This record gives sequence, C-alpha cells and structure tokens, in this order.
Amino acid sequence: MRVLLLGGGGREAAMAWSITRSSRLSKLYICPGNGGTHQYGTNVEIPLEPPFEMLVKFIQQEKIEMVIVGPEAPLVAGVVDELRKHKIKVFGPKKAAARLEGSKVFMKEFLARHGIPTAYFQVFSRPEDAYRYVEKQNRAFVVKTDGLAAGKGVTVARTKDETMDAIRRMMVDREFGDAGNRIILEDRLDGVEVSVFVVSDGKHFHWLASAQDHKRLLDNDEGPNTGGMGAYAPVPFLDQKMKEIITLNIIEPTIMGLKKEGYPYTGVLYFGLMLTQYGPSVLEYNVRFGDPEAQVILPLMKTSFLDLACATVEEKLHEFQIDFYPGYCVTVVLASEGYPGAYKKGVPIKGDLSTEVDCLVFHAGTKLVAPGQWVTSGGRVLCVTAISSTLSRAIDRAYEKVAKISFDGMQYRKDIGKKGIVMR
Ligand code: ATP
Repeated sequence: MRVLLLGGGGREAAMAWSITRSSRLSKLYICPGNGGTHQYGTNVEIPLEPPFEMLVKFIQQEKIEMVIVGPEAPLVAGVVDELRKHKIKVFGPKKAAARLEGSKVFMKEFLARHGIPTAYFQVFSRPEDAYRYVEKQNRAFVVKTDGLAAGKGVTVARTKDETMDAIRRMMVDREFGDAGNRIILEDRLDGVEVSVFVVSDGKHFHWLASAQDHKRLLDNDEGPNTGGMGAYAPVPFLDQKMKEIITLNIIEPTIMGLKKEGYPYTGVLYFGLMLTQYGPSVLEYNVRFGDPEAQVILPLMKTSFLDLACATVEEKLHEFQIDFYPGYCVTVVLASEGYPGAYKKGVPIKGDLSTEVDCLVFHAGTKLVAPGQWVTSGGRVLCVTAISSTLSRAIDRAYEKVAKISFDGMQYRKDIGKKGIVMR
C-alpha cells in the first residue's frame, strides 16, 4: 500500500515508525517530515493549506492509497473533506468534527448539549459584557479564546484582576487575532490532569491509551508553557473503575453525539480530562494524537498504526483487535536553548541516536546534513523514548539514552514520568 503521512514533528516520526511495521506498506511519503523521517520513507514538500490542489495532484500522480493526517491545522482547514471529495482514503476527522478542537465555543456547547461533564462556562463576544460578568461575580475565572491560539489562548487566572487583564488582552488588544473574537469564562477545576486517546470509525471506538504530558518547561511543572517536554503512558493510577466511568460518561456520549449531529468521527480523538473530586471532567478535545503523547502510545502498540488506520477508514473497527505490549513508555523531549522563545537553528547534534530494542529516538526539529549527521532545526529537537516493564525502569532507560546525546544549549526536564510514580 502506498501511504502519505501529513506532518513533520516528533508525533509524525512516531507515526511513520509505526506505519513501517505493517506488512501492507509498500511506499511511505511524509509531508514535510523531518531530519529523522528519512529512515522510514521519502520526505516531500507540498503546502498543507487550502485549497489543497497540489496535495490532491501529488496523491493522484503517486497513486497514494491512504493518507494519514498528524497535526490539527490541516484538519481544521478541511483537508479530509477535500480529499474525500476526490475519493481519496484519508484517516482523520472532517472539518465539522474538527471544530471540537478548532472552536472552544463549539466544544463547550457540544459538551453541554450532550450532558458530558465539563466546567461551568459563559460565552462572550463583547469585552464590556465579559467585564460586567466578572465584576458581578467578583472572582477569578479561566479565560479562553474561542479559536486556535497555539496552546497560548488559555489563562488560568488567580485573581479578578488577572481575569480582567486576560479579557483585555484577548478581546481589546487582540493578542490572538480573530481567535479572540469570542471568549469563554469558565470555572476553575481542581484535580489531576490526564489524557485519554481513542480511535473511532464514526460508529465504534477503541480505547488506545491514557497518558500524562508535561507542558511546562522546567521540573516540577514550573516555567513557561511549551508544546510538551515529555510524556508517559499508561497512567498507573487510572484504575478499571475510573476507565469505565470515563468511557460511559464521556467517550460514548461524545462519539454518539457527533454521529447524531451528522459528523461521525473518523480518527484519533484526544480527551483532556481533569479528575476532580466529583469525577472526570472534560477540559478539551484534540482531534488528533498529542505531541509528545503519540511518541509513548505508538511504541506500546504491537499493531501497526497503518493497519489500525485501514480498519478505521473501512469502518471495521468493531472486528479489529489492537494488541499492546505490557509495560510503560516514557519520552523525554530534548529542546533547543531559548525554547519556547526564540532559539538558534543549525546546531550540530552529537551522540548516539540509534534505535535499540527498548529505546527509540524520534526526531522532531532536526535536519539531515550528511549521512548520520544532523543539526537542530526546531524548538523541540528529539524525543528520546524508552519502554520497560515498570514505569521507573522506563524512566531510567530513557535518561540513560539522553546522557549519550548532546548539542550546544540542549535543555530537557529531569522529572518526566515522576508524576506517575508519586501518585501510586
Ligand atoms: P493545549 O491544546 O495546548 O493543551 P489549549 O489552548 O487547547 O491547550 P486547554 O487544554 O483548554 O487549552 O487548557 C490549557 C490548560 O489550562 C489545561 O491543560 C489545564 O491545565 C488548564 N485549564 C484549562 N481549563 C481549566 C479549568 N477549567 N480549570 C483548571 N485548569 C484549566
């Protein structure tokens, strides 16, 4: 089978790696890919923006039989709708369903319509109404832009003044452009955050894994927010009973709700949950794998992601079995100096990037400059991933490998996965 994978981060490196484990693969293209995806297929440069004309042409010319979408931007922009119009098989949700991630107002109203637990919220399209509401309530709120804001459109305000300030930045200063045309004021939830991933063909779904990411730059969840500095899976304290509650109260009504509203969901769906004292509550949906969560979920799957994608697109998930390895997987992100702010590119990477039985190095922001020689080309550079029978061994194994890699200014967290051990 000739396959095209869209995206170029560490997530797509993990997806490409998993796709190559399928016996049905004959040729893999990755668009745009990165310095490490050369190992799995051929990188191609095609714009991933509407109207997707060049993409369609490439797919037809190269006789691609399956397209798999990694990142959210092309999904929210309608790449799946466009490819399906041309009868191209594609794994990922259509634009209407991708609104679960593309519009927080859509998401919150969807949750409310289907009685799925989420924090109490109000939507505002005029700053003066939002200010008045906060004045009247006389307390702090979580303030969110409606549209995508590269993970920066959420302020968990601690005071009323911080709430007012966030409203002003989003709606008056328009720091996030049109993403802040509407905002949400939401009650703050307290608890432990976990992510749950399922795959759905529109009618049926399978639970893939639970995971915890590490969004902040520094140890102990300090410092600025990043795209994610590491992750581990599965979450050891998510017991069977809690999984059943999540499935019954959150996953099933989501998949059924989307189908009922006329946009059945095809693809990976990510549930960002807060486990509160009153039960699990939805913080957000993402309409694709997380990055770096994909890097810890896919290595735990014996089943190739390509076989799973085929069963999904053919709507045969109900008769498809996904096999997993027992144990835990941990990924540590190695980032450039200055990330998540401005950073230098082109810094030579030294050390052992080889694949081992229990250890994989997924490239993210790298560029291949000569055989076996890479330089940095992004903020998040490498994802060092290890698998073992216990979480603590997987952590140790990942850091052993990290110690063998270096580049000038390399920064990483030293506490990835510890949340899972402390909680036990
Ligand atoms: P990303 O996709 O990068 O995770 P986002 O912009 O989609 O971010 P959310 O996931 O909705 O934003 O929120 C970001 C973070 O803010 C959450 O991971 C959580 O830590 C915190 N947060 C959001 N809503 C609440 C809430 N109601 N109570 C407490 N914390 C919250």
